[in-house]
Amino acid sequence: MTVTFTPVTANYKRKNMHWERDNRYFYYPSLFVSPFVTGTDCTKNDFQGASLIIADSGGYQLKTGIARKVDWYEILQFQERIADVGLTLDVPPLSKKGRLEYYDKSRYEKCLQQSTINANRMLEHKTNKSMKTYAVIQGKDFDDAYKWFNNITKDHDFDGYAIPIAEIKNVGDIQSFYDQIRLAKEINTDFHFLGNCTQLSMLIYSRLAQITRKNYTFDSSTASNAIRYGQYFEPHYHHRMRFTKNEEHRVKFDLDKRPPCYCPICSKHTVRQLINNPMLTMLHNVYVLKEFNEYSFTVVQDYNEFSWLLKKIVESNSKYQKHSKEIIRLITSLL
Ligand SMILES: [Zn+2]
Repeated sequence: MTVTFTPVTANYKRKNMHWERDNRYFYYPSLFVSPFVTGTDCTKNDFQGASLIIADSGGYQLKTGIARKVDWYEILQFQERIADVGLTLDVPPLSKKGRLEYYDKSRYEKCLQQSTINANRMLEHKTNKSMKTYAVIQGKDFDDAYKWFNNITKDHDFDGYAIPIAEIKNVGDIQSFYDQIRLAKEINTDFHFLGNCTQLSMLIYSRLAQITRKNYTFDSSTASNAIRYGQYFEPHYHHRMRFTKNEEHRVKFDLDKRPPCYCPICSKHTVRQLINNPMLTMLHNVYVLKEFNEYSFTVVQDYNEFSWLLKKIVESNSKYQKHSKEIIRLITSLL
């Protein structure tokens, strides 16, 4: 049983990425590769030193307008060249209202049928037998997600499954988050949780693994938000600070002192150096997230410690505070 963070790869051709064995900061060999960051023509050589590569399919990028065309065969070949685990090409039931995307139930049936066809084809045409294939499941509530699972497994079982996990931002997300975790518990096999690495989620993945004894992975692109937005994870509560050249939007630290963190990056650099080289901030973020993941994996071995940390996280975060009793009640009823 393991729970592994696979950070989404950004600017992978630049030096000092976290999976490089000779990295002067730290070595962390797991990563999540999206064909829309790397292109579909990369090879295993581009990721020397990585020991776990999960390759995305691009369904999400297609639906949200980042990609115009995604071909399942091209994606499959890309995955077979580089990946240990490939995700099937799903068609997420999403629509857009202005710039806001939302889960569109009226598109569910059509998306399910097309996603099932893609998943079957990718499994049937796979030639790299050492690569695992995880089928992507969509569904905001338990019934939708379970129906999707039943449909996609009519002709084939997969090595595991992947699901985009709701991030709790408002009250409506609490039930979705609970339902999706419940689904993973019921299906009771290896899972990849897409796009959510909050402290709460990491704690839940670990507790779930403790119960099911299965292997879980999860990805997030938030570490590499350092490169685009200068986002720096405060090391204790993961409060997201800004380390940018724009003074107005920057946290007011002394530029010539070290950031308040003892990770292998911050202990060698000043705030100014991190601002001028956001790749350093990204490495710090990956380090902070992987450390918390290891910490929560240890904590959940004891139920009382798990309950204590759950309460602590829920009650100290302004996003959860209003509904803290409900969140704690639902989670402890499941785990
Ligand atoms: Zn640090």
